[in-house]
Amino acid sequence: MAKRTAGERVIKDEEPRVYFNCSKCPAYCCSIYERVKVTKRDIARLAKHFGVSEEMARRRYTHDHDGERVLNRVKDAIFPETCAFLDQRTRGCTVYLARPGVCRGYPGRSRCAYYDVLQFERRQQDDENVVPVVTITFRPVHEEEHSDADSTETIEVWGEEDKTADAVKDPAPIFAAEDRAAERLPRGKRPRR
Ligand code: SF4
Ligand code: SF4
Repeated sequence: MAKRTAGERVIKDEEPRVYFNCSKCPAYCCSIYERVKVTKRDIARLAKHFGVSEEMARRRYTHDHDGERVLNRVKDAIFPETCAFLDQRTRGCTVYLARPGVCRGYPGRSRCAYYDVLQFERRQQDDENVVPVVTITFRPVHEEEHSDADSTETIEVWGEEDKTADAVKDPAPIFAAEDRAAERLPRGKRPRR
């Protein structure tokens, strides 16, 4: 899950989500980010929720990932992986009241890009139950100058390994959407965030 950045507004639980509805979403935010960072306070909240010591909560529900403490993940029914606390049938958070701070703040603005993608594809496919399976990969991008006899232009080059001419012509997509018309999700999920 993305970190909250300065200036983002946390939408309080009781505030209406005007432009997105977590209860009608397969929980992209719980699934496509490989890490949900937890603080000591988050671990203490989980420990209280489960009635265990903070050390036990830390060991049982989190692990180290590149020097950060993050929530555990499991294989998912829709995405390759998801948060261990996601109910994979209802797509709701099973520790909603004890969820970490980053989950409370997400998406930190009035729109959720993933909910927009979901709605967009449902309209495109004319199917209210289709689920575009979105993955996100973060790659470095840098600019290179390319010249021919007529001109010089600056283009963005995507990723260290993609410097070949073919890769420049056909850069790897940030969003790889795959429509799975068969995915039908239950209604009435508990709202998250
Ligand atoms: S914040 Fe966005 S991606 Fe996450 S559950 Fe809500 S609508 Fe879906
Ligand atoms: S909202 Fe719940 S299920 Fe989703 S990432 Fe946070 S703790 Fe996990």
